[in-house]
Amino acid sequence: MSDYVIGIDLGTGNSCVAVMKGDRVEVIANSDGERTTPSYVAFTDTEKLVGLAAKNQHALNPKNTVYEVKRLMGRKFNEPEVQEDIKRFTYKVICSNKGYPLIEVTYKGKVEHFTPEQISAMILTKMKETAEEYLGCKITRAVITVPAYFNDAQRQATKDAGIIAGLKVERLIAEPTSSVLAYGLDKSLKTSQNVMIVDPGSGTYDVSIINVDEGVFEVKATSGDSHLGGSDFDAVLIDYFAKMFEKKYHKNLRTSAKAMGRLKTACERTKKTLSNSTAATVEIDQLYEGIDFYTSITRAKFEDLSSTLLKKHLTSIEQALNDAKLDKTMISEVIMTGGTSRIPKLCQMISEYFNGKTLNKSINPDECVAYGAAVQGDILSGNASKSTQDILLLDVTPLSLGIETAGGVMTVLIPKNSTIPCRKVESNFTTYADNQPGVTIQVYQGESSMCVRNTKLGEFQIMGIPPARKGQPRIEITFDIDANGILQVSAKELTSNKSGNITISNSSKLSQKDIDEAIRRAEQFKEEDDKNKEKFEAKNKLESTYYSLKSQLEEYKLDTNPEFKDIMDCDRFNCYLFSSIE
Ligand code: ADP
Ligand code: MG
Repeated sequence: MSDYVIGIDLGTGNSCVAVMKGDRVEVIANSDGERTTPSYVAFTDTEKLVGLAAKNQHALNPKNTVYEVKRLMGRKFNEPEVQEDIKRFTYKVICSNKGYPLIEVTYKGKVEHFTPEQISAMILTKMKETAEEYLGCKITRAVITVPAYFNDAQRQATKDAGIIAGLKVERLIAEPTSSVLAYGLDKSLKTSQNVMIVDPGSGTYDVSIINVDEGVFEVKATSGDSHLGGSDFDAVLIDYFAKMFEKKYHKNLRTSAKAMGRLKTACERTKKTLSNSTAATVEIDQLYEGIDFYTSITRAKFEDLSSTLLKKHLTSIEQALNDAKLDKTMISEVIMTGGTSRIPKLCQMISEYFNGKTLNKSINPDECVAYGAAVQGDILSGNASKSTQDILLLDVTPLSLGIETAGGVMTVLIPKNSTIPCRKVESNFTTYADNQPGVTIQVYQGESSMCVRNTKLGEFQIMGIPPARKGQPRIEITFDIDANGILQVSAKELTSNKSGNITISNSSKLSQKDIDEAIRRAEQFKEEDDKNKEKFEAKNKLESTYYSLKSQLEEYKLDTNPEFKDIMDCDRFNCYLFSSIE
């Protein structure tokens, strides 16, 4: 065992592992000598393959080669995104009896099922072993990165994958936050600044704007395209060469999965070459029906073919600026991460968009996220190197969290932008009816004062509350958000100690779009909702005063006193006090 806390970028297409050794971050090469590992797992008659070996045999073993499993993490089978993705996947995904996706493969001649967490764990295990081999000791602790827009369920699933891989996940951090750490911008930017992180990856494109202020990171906006990435550039080349082949030989090689697989591999290689050179040759022996395919392409031609794709990248940047209500001149740093940002034209376009700004791209873009995770790992290791000692990493909640109380009012326990980890305990909740046996605690996220316009994250009940007058039981609610952003809500009835809790691992999807939508909705109805809330709260206050007065009268046996009869008679107050009603 060692003190190392490794940093892992668990990517949709590629994963990467890094560690702080001495005063330096080392990105660790795997057993193939590569510094990134394809996030592929394949099953054959004899073995399980992870990484490049799995990716390389994809075309020959499509049904049992699992990739892009990050898209399934923490999601329900019937979510539209899942349904769309599995239509494309070459492997089969079925619905578990709990409604989650399950991957079906044939392994060593037998049909087997794996959860997305299990597949991710196989990739994480490979990353862990890569680090162990390099460091020469057992590794048990890691920081893993997740997209900024991952919700609780997706974060929880990632954490579970870590646990399955035998890793104690010291923290999950957002990928763009990790990139900011890699560049040390949290230290070098002395005043509050907005940083844009542009991350064109293999199959996804993420743009984030993060405000960095004295070590506090606040995600201002995220945008992008969940189905735009390096493979779309590959597809442009595949299409170009397949047409060229057809024109020259009058044969359609698209009918052969094997030929297409080999063309795809060659096209990705060609694309990468074109990032460094102004021309590339393509040589594929025996591509189709014995024909050797030799040709070449220039960078200019490639840029021309991909002009539509390239332009799309700017649209998301504008979208993020709009969402964050920032002008492009208010972005002080632009960080380029993600393998696809190696395409020179893309960087050139983005730099031009920011009036010729110099982009931060000195750290390898496909290693940047893991690099930052290693920096964070070092801080958490307890024996941080000098270079990271003074970094304080704080994340914040993107939206307010609370529960529904009487009248559908959103009672906020943790306000938006609270620094996490955090904990809040409130004990002024009670029942609504006499002898009410239980309450339902409904957890919401959002900025509206009325719950209908917020997003429900989950609910749970506490039952077995001893018979009591309405307003008598005291229910204590605790909200606890850990450093990974995972929310735990618990409730306890204080006289009986009956309790219940929920870990929000099944929350509704909450992308940046959802966050923006939540804020927009809240703004739109703000006046009306706030009035409503005020009304309900005033009523609640009155009612609670009434009940406490009433119970005091009873205690002093004054309740039969005619002087107080009027008070006692307003039992038909139509009252409900705080909260969640059974
Ligand atoms: P993800 O984080 O989505 O898993 P990465 O950030 O690792 O993905 O990016 C992988 C993508 O980057 C792949 O599509 C790969 O082809 C592309 N890529 C890697 N190197 C280059 C390069 N030199 N030029 C162009 N694209 C590249
Ligand atoms: Mg990535």
